Amino acid sequence: MTDLDYEGFWKETLVQLRNDLGEEEFSGWFSDMKYLRARFDKKTNEKSLVIGLPSTFHRDKVMSRYQNVICSKLKNIANVEIAIEYEITGKPEKRETFSPSSSVKNEDSSKTATPEAEKTRKKREKHSQMLDDYTFDRYVKGENNGFAVNAAVAISNNPGKAYNPFLIFGGVGLGKTHLMQAIGNYIHENSDHKVICVTSEDFLNEYLDGIAQGKMNAFKNKFRFTDVLLIDDIQFFQDKPGVQEELFHTFNALINAKKQLVFTSDRPPSELKKFSERLITRFDQGIKADLQPPRYEERCAILKKAAENNNKEISDEVIDFVGKNISSNIRDLIAAFRTLIAYAELMKEPITMQLAQKSLKDTLNSSRQANFSMDNIIRVVSEYFSLTPNDLKGKKRTQNIVYARQIAMYLGRETTDYSTTELGQEFGGRDHTTVMHSIDKIKNKLLTDPALDSTLESLKRSIKEYSAKY
Ligand code: ADP
Ligand code: MG
Repeated sequence: MTDLDYEGFWKETLVQLRNDLGEEEFSGWFSDMKYLRARFDKKTNEKSLVIGLPSTFHRDKVMSRYQNVICSKLKNIANVEIAIEYEITGKPEKRETFSPSSSVKNEDSSKTATPEAEKTRKKREKHSQMLDDYTFDRYVKGENNGFAVNAAVAISNNPGKAYNPFLIFGGVGLGKTHLMQAIGNYIHENSDHKVICVTSEDFLNEYLDGIAQGKMNAFKNKFRFTDVLLIDDIQFFQDKPGVQEELFHTFNALINAKKQLVFTSDRPPSELKKFSERLITRFDQGIKADLQPPRYEERCAILKKAAENNNKEISDEVIDFVGKNISSNIRDLIAAFRTLIAYAELMKEPITMQLAQKSLKDTLNSSRQANFSMDNIIRVVSEYFSLTPNDLKGKKRTQNIVYARQIAMYLGRETTDYSTTELGQEFGGRDHTTVMHSIDKIKNKLLTDPALDSTLESLKRSIKEYSAKY
């Protein structure tokens, strides 16, 4: 449903009709029409626009006089067959005054995303491609993300002008999607700018459909004629040269037209593999901001905010407990919070320390929760063997270094989502077969050396403690 810009097609149809019919005839019939939504029937593959009209009389007249011309224009513009359905909405409502959301305004009260000429405007309908609770109001700013948030706010107030393109990167669950959509939601709500927000997978699929169905024009029209384009998780484009090429052209068209581009990636551009050099160079021309894992203070602030959003009273003691123990990422932190609330509701009990301990027992026991970030693993393991992180990442092959390295790789594989290839990267760009070999070494040793098991367990505990602190 999100694949085509139906509203854009409708607007363009109106522009052409106005041209053909002349102002007087056009405004008599079309100025009271309102785009409501689009509909897509998965079974029949039929696409339609739902247009609002003031009365049945109006509808019947439009259908008898203009139906054919509307449909043929629409088909030309969209490059696909789109049906039209009418809904009687009564007389159009009055315009309401709009005031921009305060959280962003505070950052820079001299500018808002609302253009001067648009002081009074009708509130827009929700944007179908973004979550409406991914807003700045709900985004906790801390040292881990301060720079990224400032850049995002500046962009929201001045799309296409402040920083362009904007690339947000960072690990899983650290708030990339939320921050990107906060920009989109803010601009959508406070201006008439057109915002497109897609995952990289959507972008790829639409590109492939465009090729397969000979509709590249529709694809280009959609992505090259927008004011703001947000693309999530561009690491997905790795090793896909065709779509990278298309992205490059989209990129240039939009940048030249001073339209805002925002991307997210789970790694810095320099670590994107099989990625077009010229695209990476383009990222360097804009601004990049990374999101770091939240530290203890930020985790507590996020929990407090979540409690506030959900109208829950949670004691500082419980916040401290969850904040200390769930350190992997914000997604897990929010999930733990939800588990806690659900548990309390189910048991009809207040949220006490005891209840928190009980409800989060399973979560806390899972190794993932210890936030085994590779950095932390490498730091703790090297310390344990009286080495430095660089020893583990470096080239030296003395026996104790090799052993410590194998252990760190093993722990990395067991407790993070890293693939062996990615682990290799963390250890100074080693090959994935080397990583596999190291992990096998430890696995074999575990079969014959019971002491190793307890060493590994104790290392995991240390990593967990280390992560809770930092
Ligand atoms: P990513 O895209 O980096 O994997 P998400 O943006 O999906 O992460 O964030 C995961 C969850 O954490 C979401 O529920 C999001 O609302 C929440 N979240 C992330 N960062 C923050 C933050 N700074 N303040 C409040 N909630 C956050
Ligand atoms: Mg995401």
